[in-house]
Amino acid sequence: MTTFVPHPHLLDSPRHRDWPRYPEPALPARAVAPPVAADVVIVGAGPAGLAVAAALWHLGVRDVVVLDRTGRPVERFLERIDRLDQRVLRSPYEHHPGVEGYRDCELRDFARLHWSLLTPVERREIRMSQAGHRSVVPVDVFAAYCRHTAAIHGVTERLWPGEVDSVEPDGDRVTVRGKGFTITARHVVLCLGEERRDAPERWWTGTRPDEVGYWDEPVPAGADRAVVVGAGLTAAHLIHNALDRGAVVDWVMRGESERYQCSDVNASFFRAEGRARFDSHRNPVPWADRLTLMGRQRRASVMFEFRPLFEAAQADGRLTVHRGTGIGAVHAKGVELADGRLVAGDHVVLALGTVPSIGTGLLSEELVGARDGWPDLDERTLAYQRAPRVFAAGAAACMVLGPAGRNIDGHRVATARIAATVAARLREDAVAHV
Ligand SMILES: Cc1cc2nc3c(=O)[nH]c(=O)nc-3n(C[C@H](O)[C@H](O)[C@H](O)COP(=O)(O)OP(=O)(O)OC[C@H]3O[C@@H](n4cnc5c(N)ncnc54)[C@H](O)[C@@H]3O)c2cc1C
Repeated sequence: MTTFVPHPHLLDSPRHRDWPRYPEPALPARAVAPPVAADVVIVGAGPAGLAVAAALWHLGVRDVVVLDRTGRPVERFLERIDRLDQRVLRSPYEHHPGVEGYRDCELRDFARLHWSLLTPVERREIRMSQAGHRSVVPVDVFAAYCRHTAAIHGVTERLWPGEVDSVEPDGDRVTVRGKGFTITARHVVLCLGEERRDAPERWWTGTRPDEVGYWDEPVPAGADRAVVVGAGLTAAHLIHNALDRGAVVDWVMRGESERYQCSDVNASFFRAEGRARFDSHRNPVPWADRLTLMGRQRRASVMFEFRPLFEAAQADGRLTVHRGTGIGAVHAKGVELADGRLVAGDHVVLALGTVPSIGTGLLSEELVGARDGWPDLDERTLAYQRAPRVFAAGAAACMVLGPAGRNIDGHRVATARIAATVAARLREDAVAHV
């Protein structure tokens, strides 16, 4: 068997190139509040919300309002990626935020159309993808593709900035409220993504010191000795950035070793046979089995590209890895390990992963029906069992779709179910009202 280990040069893919833009609609709608009624409200314009909106467009559903705190498609995803200075996605070209069953210009087609803007390393990745091998997508290509997808599917002009505070189903309508707007919708799709996982309270001896940050917060430029806690890709990027600017790094992880792999989810979970290990629609899969699989599959991992860089940094003493150790406490000047040792530094960054947003806080707890942190969803439609006009796409759907539910490829699967259900119900409603 051949093991394909990509070159670390991939990690230097340029960002913010000048991509030709599809003529985007003017944004007069932004200055005013969103409409007071719509067939569908989508909360969240990340890759999942974008996929749902594009699928509804293909199915002829046009009375859609998309709401996002940021007011721009895929903005939070890109902000997070840019904060980590992550230049390539960890998912391949086949995982594009497109729509199942419709022939759009796909992510790889889009990249090929912009061949002259790509570096030789990036072009090689496209050839790898065409040959059916693992490939890596530049963030720059992905960002331009998302903007293009939003523009051609009419999402840009249907997107309003706004934070949703509550989602209240009542009979055949759902009321969506936020600061300055109330919208009555027939259907609501929650595409809320994930929030960072906070440190346990017992790690702090008082309030969190300024010298300690989370992965999604800026790292001060002057930190010469950094301590990074966590074993996943975000930790890897933080370490890479710190080493790059000449800092010395201590890497603290709970596991016994680093896990280097191609992607954060085993490839089988992107295929039907992998999803069948979760999907209870046809063959019931015990909840406990799914929970165990999720626990195993959500373990932190780092892309292969980092291995040569980190091994070199360890060899020359710039990186020290503390494996198999819990945290006793986190202080301004370092981390106290569970065995009492102190790992000192001028800045500590906590990269502890993310927690799926499952609708709690927007829907009532009773309607979410959470079990072990997962919402109670209809396996066929991804609607909330106790709120059938409200749907969940993205990480919230993982106990139905498996660990890939939180990834770009999983959004396509979720979208196919949700959009088909919503479009069919709207057609039924229209017939009933004739
Ligand atoms: C650093 C990083 C790199 C990643 N790389 C990859 C990758 O390469 N490939 C891959 O497949 N996956 C990757 N992932 C996983 C990734 O998060 C998902 O694929 C993708 O972002 C999920 O899309 P989403 O739309 O579900 O969530 P998000 O992108 O988080 O979008 C959710 C949106 O909902 C909005 N929102 C939430 N609550 C509200 C509210 N109450 N009111 C209004 N708006 C709200 C947020 O502002 C946000 O814009 C990565 C994750 C991280 C953190």
